Amino acid sequence: MSRLALIVAAALLVMVALPHSQSRTRVVMLGTGTPNADPDRYGPSVAVVDDETSYLVDFGVGVVRRAAAAERSGITALAATKLTLAFATHLHSDHTLGLADLILTPWILERPTPLTLYGPRGLRAMTKHLVDAYADDIRIRTRGGEPKHQYDPRLVRVHEISPGVVYRDERVTVTAFPVPHGAWEQAFGYRFQTPDRTIVISGDTGPDSRIEDQCRRCDVLVHEVYSEAGFAKRPADWQAYHARYHTSSRQLGAIAARARPGLLVLYHQLIWSSTEEELLNEVRSAYDGQVVSAHDLDVY
Ligand SMILES: [Zn+2]
Ligand SMILES: [Zn+2]
Repeated sequence: MSRLALIVAAALLVMVALPHSQSRTRVVMLGTGTPNADPDRYGPSVAVVDDETSYLVDFGVGVVRRAAAAERSGITALAATKLTLAFATHLHSDHTLGLADLILTPWILERPTPLTLYGPRGLRAMTKHLVDAYADDIRIRTRGGEPKHQYDPRLVRVHEISPGVVYRDERVTVTAFPVPHGAWEQAFGYRFQTPDRTIVISGDTGPDSRIEDQCRRCDVLVHEVYSEAGFAKRPADWQAYHARYHTSSRQLGAIAARARPGLLVLYHQLIWSSTEEELLNEVRSAYDGQVVSAHDLDVY
């Protein structure tokens, strides 16, 4: 074996020996669910984790407890007190039911700084209504004998965004891009660029070439999907709805075939009467790259 071949072989060995979860930037699937009350799949929420900082995309039901579970398994950036930054894809309830949790629970647990949110128009009003709804709770916790808190929880920094770069720090650049999601006026996907990885998260969307444009050989594409076999057995009125709002397995396979991500991660899976295996087979019928169907607390 030549010296060059040896070097190449050694490099390949290192690449094989280092799974994606060992990369500096990790993608943690806090919740992979949908509105369906599947006890194994909490509401949609994905964390991009870089060292000790976490960036949440969406905050479905159970978000703080799923983050605590990830912390328990060693991802310390997902401690409740470190959940300070979140990006909303859109305001559908399955993606936002955890917002009161994200505002209040870490505050009670002595998070040092207020929550900062980025998302579509309406996020500010939603946040205000939630804070107002918990006025009695906040009053009792503030003046009723709990030890002094770090800040006033009514203080949430909300940024209603337009497409483009919406956030940047020394670790990450976050770009929001519009996606088509039925009647929603604003729905976003997000692209995270870190020193070692590019991660694209679709949010809820119909099939759209802008996702391919954002990915283009990105490291990880996290994309919503529904099963075509499951869809075929749905009532006609629901079929019309799903087709208008979401992306089928084969449509996603075609998108991935053009975008060529290092890893395609299925989430927000609408499987219905079909199976996860069948869903994966449907995607693979249109895409020959690496694809996994995510479960809650998977790390990529
Ligand atoms: Zn959804
Ligand atoms: Zn939605």
